[in-house]
Amino acid sequence: MEIIKQMIFNLALLLVILFLFQIYQESKGEKSNSHKNVFWYFLISIVVSLLLSNIINLHMRYDLRVVPLILGCLYLPRKLGARLFIYSIIIRALFGINFGFFLSIFIYGVQTICLLLIHNYFHTLKTKKKIFFSVIISILSSILFIIITKVFNQSLTLSQWSIYILSTSIGTGIMCAAFEFYNRNYAMREKIIKSEKIEAVSHLAASISHEVRNPLTSIKGFLQLISDDDFSKEKKDEFIKIALSEIHRAEQIINDYLTFAKPSLVSYEKIKIHEHLTKTINIIQPLAIMSSVRIRKKLDTNAYFFGDFSTFQQCIINFLKNSIDAMPNGGILHVESYLDDEIAVIIIKDTGIGMTSEQARKLGEPYFSTKGTKGTGLGLMVSYGIIRSMKGVIEVESKIDKGTTFTIKFPVTSINEGSY
Ligand code: ADP
Ligand code: MG
Repeated sequence: MEIIKQMIFNLALLLVILFLFQIYQESKGEKSNSHKNVFWYFLISIVVSLLLSNIINLHMRYDLRVVPLILGCLYLPRKLGARLFIYSIIIRALFGINFGFFLSIFIYGVQTICLLLIHNYFHTLKTKKKIFFSVIISILSSILFIIITKVFNQSLTLSQWSIYILSTSIGTGIMCAAFEFYNRNYAMREKIIKSEKIEAVSHLAASISHEVRNPLTSIKGFLQLISDDDFSKEKKDEFIKIALSEIHRAEQIINDYLTFAKPSLVSYEKIKIHEHLTKTINIIQPLAIMSSVRIRKKLDTNAYFFGDFSTFQQCIINFLKNSIDAMPNGGILHVESYLDDEIAVIIIKDTGIGMTSEQARKLGEPYFSTKGTKGTGLGLMVSYGIIRSMKGVIEVESKIDKGTTFTIKFPVTSINEGSY
């Protein structure tokens, strides 16, 4: 009974470590899903299992270290899998060099070699098969363990024997399922975050092509008028002037859009807020016009801070798009910026549908969206991340059917180069 309790405790701890590891990964952001981190997770799990071993006799201890070993060899690149085996043996040596130690080298050695050989095949399998496969490997490894202990007359009792097989195979199955689930979620989130910008780009492209069509139509009209002999030279000059200014407008819209759509490197520069907000508003203008939203600007030319223009622009576009989305029947979008002491303040205020306090609290959480299939719930998550990385803060005020005000504040001398 004591043994069962100990094995369950061991398994529970492995799951808790996995859970803590995932929280750590989430808090560190995307780049931290490196093999190195996963390697450390498996190594810590092995140490914890060894500390919780059931001591059978002077030579032998049994525990769930086989679970992280199997999964480590399967999920890590081969080289790291082999290293995990070597480290586990070194750690096992610290618990005594005895029969059990040599047994570990043999069984886990054979197991590691087999796992590394089928490593590539394992990754071609679907989730369910992967779980099944890892459970079978753990059963085979346990059987090998039992046979060898029998050969060397160190045999366990029938109940110890069955508890061992059961706990390692169930443990491997559960851990493999948890790992698969985590990996799938992670990959999905990565994909959605990438598609968030693509979605914004294609959405804006549709409204921009609509907007470019207007100057083109008027240019066409003026060109036709110019070719008409009925008009005086002055009148024709005036038409040319108007046509040129329309061409300039179309060019401006396309240029602004291209700066947004093009993938950019993170740079660090002085962002003159009024200049960049004007550019960003120009990009969003066509979308606003389509939804009958009027944009009012009140931009102080003194406001600035240090950051990356392109990420800043993506972040502001997310806020502006949300405000426009919140005003399906039109309204007023007020964009203001000023410098307050050493703080650059940006206010984005709409007269849209607003939010409940419950909804406002959830802003910035991944996947929080009230737009059904039209929303991803990632726009603000990305924007909040960008603002925090530039040491900014966000305040929200919202009333149902009245509108929402976002106030974003950046310290003027905020970040060190390359810190995001
Ligand atoms: P998405 O726009 O894809 O739904 P976001 O992360 O951009 O995802 O926004 C999350 C949610 O926050 C929206 O679905 C909406 O409910 C709410 N929201 C954001 N901005 C506003 C706003 N200006 N007015 C009302 N609701 C908003
Ligand atoms: Mg959005």
